[in-house]
Amino acid sequence: MNAPNKPPLTIRLCEPRGFCAGVDRAIQIVVLALKKFGAPVYVRHEIVHNRFVVDGLRERGAIFVKELSDIPGDHRERPVVFSAHGVPKSVPADAESRHMFYLDATCPLVSKVHKQAMRHQRLGRHVLLIGHAGHPEVVGTMGQLPEGAVTLVETVEQVSGLDVPDEENLGYVTQTTLSVDDTADIVAALERRFPNLTAPSSESICYATTNRQEAVKKAAPGTGMFLIVGAPNSSNSRRLVEVARRHGAADAVLVQRASEIDWTRMQGVSTIGISAGASAPEIVVQEIIDAFRDRFDVTVDIALTVEETENFPVMRDLRDTALEPA
Ligand code: SF4
Repeated sequence: MNAPNKPPLTIRLCEPRGFCAGVDRAIQIVVLALKKFGAPVYVRHEIVHNRFVVDGLRERGAIFVKELSDIPGDHRERPVVFSAHGVPKSVPADAESRHMFYLDATCPLVSKVHKQAMRHQRLGRHVLLIGHAGHPEVVGTMGQLPEGAVTLVETVEQVSGLDVPDEENLGYVTQTTLSVDDTADIVAALERRFPNLTAPSSESICYATTNRQEAVKKAAPGTGMFLIVGAPNSSNSRRLVEVARRHGAADAVLVQRASEIDWTRMQGVSTIGISAGASAPEIVVQEIIDAFRDRFDVTVDIALTVEETENFPVMRDLRDTALEPA
């Protein structure tokens, strides 16, 4: 029976959603560094693209900086953590030249893309990187190779005008958080133009990106609205909004907290979808579901595609800290 005065609403809740193994590891590295070394611990760039997570770590004593040069001279002995998105080679080199102690929280799946790009180059191939200009992961991947060794490809339209040093010797890698379908289109266009193009030895788009997009594809058809919990600068979250729209949601929006929901857009809607980007914590998803329960008689249906079991352990030194009493 419906609760009095509350209209019925079905929420299709995507599974898997939210934190991936790489984000979880990066957050643990900052938390354990604070436990082991005390505050402050410096973090270069947002450790992951989520304000809620960043604010929580700041409250515990993390200080976020844009560049190593922003760390005050008398704090150079404090640990500095590099974000999950990866960094250009120049960053650890800079840290070493300043005698800084750093912890690299680059996701192992981003490091794998770095290695694949370096392998292409070692085998004499110019590297095409499919990704979004300016994203920290793209900056980090381009920064694994010397200037000019990588050409960024953002769209299918760009492919016909690409100027490369040797069309017979090309290899590609991609950002880990792209749209699976858009990337397949770009790769197909590249292969038409460069038949000898070499693929990476394994898929660059990571399991978490793929799984979250698949779950949204399953849940989206027929929904009146799709909410993706995530930050505007989170690439994988923005891709989920696009996927929801393309696969049958009447509309889709990105929200960071329940307070951002525009309730006028929920009027007359009987089914919504909810998922969360790889850097969005579950506590915010539950906050949003609770906000819907305050206004609707909610039924939650789980849109499950796959069970995730991935777990990336932190570095050994910090793993030992995790076992010590608080
Ligand atoms: Fe790693 Fe993928 Fe998570 Fe990025 S989204 S941190 S590549 S698992």
